[in-house]
Amino acid sequence: MTLDTIVEEIKKADTIAILAHESPDGDAIGSVLAMGIALENMGKTPDRIISEFPRKFKFLPGADKVKPNSNIEKYDLAISLDCADLRRLDGKEYFENAKKTIVIDHHGSNTMYGDINFVNPASPACCEILVGIFTYFELEIHQDLGSCILTGIITDTGGFKHQGVTPETFEFTAELLRKGVNVSEIYEKALEIRTKSNFELLKRICDRMEMFEDGKVTFTYITNQDEEEVNAEPGDHEGLVEVGRGVEGVEVSIFIRQVDDEQKYKISMRSTNNVNVSDICYLFGGGGHPRAAGCTIQGTIEQVKEKILKEVHNAMK
Ligand code: AMP
Ligand code: MN
Ligand code: MN
Repeated sequence: MTLDTIVEEIKKADTIAILAHESPDGDAIGSVLAMGIALENMGKTPDRIISEFPRKFKFLPGADKVKPNSNIEKYDLAISLDCADLRRLDGKEYFENAKKTIVIDHHGSNTMYGDINFVNPASPACCEILVGIFTYFELEIHQDLGSCILTGIITDTGGFKHQGVTPETFEFTAELLRKGVNVSEIYEKALEIRTKSNFELLKRICDRMEMFEDGKVTFTYITNQDEEEVNAEPGDHEGLVEVGRGVEGVEVSIFIRQVDDEQKYKISMRSTNNVNVSDICYLFGGGGHPRAAGCTIQGTIEQVKEKILKEVHNAMK
C-alpha cells in the first residue's frame, strides 16, 4: 500500500525537503509545518523550504524553522504538499534533483508528478489528508501538530463553510479542542485578522468591483503599483477573491493580480454553486477545485478580463 511505501521512504532518507505550492496559503503552510513536526517525531531532521513565508502564519509552531532555500542540492527525499503540478511547486529544483519524491495533495487536477502519489480530491484540505497519514504512522497528534493541521483545514474550508467539509472534519476538530488546541485563536489569526496592507487592498478592490452577467459575476483587480503603495508583503492579497462571492446573487467571483511581469496576471476564481471554476482555469493552463481555482494569463488588465469573462459566460450558458 502507498502509505507503507511512504513510511519506508521516510525511514530510509537522511535528508528530506518539505515543499508546497508557490504563494502559499494556510493549507500549504499548515501542511509543511505539520509534516516538519511529524518527521521530527519520527527522528528525522527535515528542511522546510518556503521562499516567501506569509507573515500572518508566523505564530504557528515551527514557523521559525522554515528557510527560503537550502544548500543541499540532492535530497534523499522531497515531499510536495498541497501542490497540483510541478510548475507551481516552490523550490521545484529540490524536488527535481531528489533521489525519491512523494506528492501528497487534494487537487482533482493533480498531475501525479511524484514517484509516489497520494492524492485525494474528496478531502477539503491537504492537511486533512495528513491526519489520516499520521494516524496510519501511529503518530500522536498533539497540540503543536494539531495547530498546524487545523490551520490548513480552517483556511481551505473558509472556516468550515465550504462544500466538501466532511463529518470527519468536525470530529477531528472536536478531538483537537479536547487536546487543548486553541481553535478560536487559529480561526482568528489564520482567517479573520487582516494585515493593514490587506485592508488597504480590500478598499481598492471594493471600489473597482464590476458586475457582469446580470449581477452573477464580479470582477476586480490589483496591480503591482497598488501592492507597492500599501507596502504589501507576500500573502497580503489572500482572501480578497472571497469578497465578490459574498455578494447576494453572485455565482462567480474573479480577482486578478499583476505578477512581477507587467503583462501577466494571476487569476483567482471562486464560485457559489454550479459553475466549475477549475474547468475554466484549466483552459488557461491552471486548475484547482470546482469552487476555488486559479491560473495565470498574459496580457493587459483589459485583455485578461475579456478572456476570462468570455469563458465564464460560456460556462454559465
Ligand atoms: P487561489 O485563488 O490562489 O487561492 O487558488 C485557489 C485554488 O486553486 C487553490 O487550491 C490553489 O492551489 C489552486 N490553484 C491556484 N492557481 C492554480 C494553478 N495555476 N494551477 C493549479 N491550481 C491552482
Ligand atoms: Mn493551497
Ligand atoms: Mn489546499
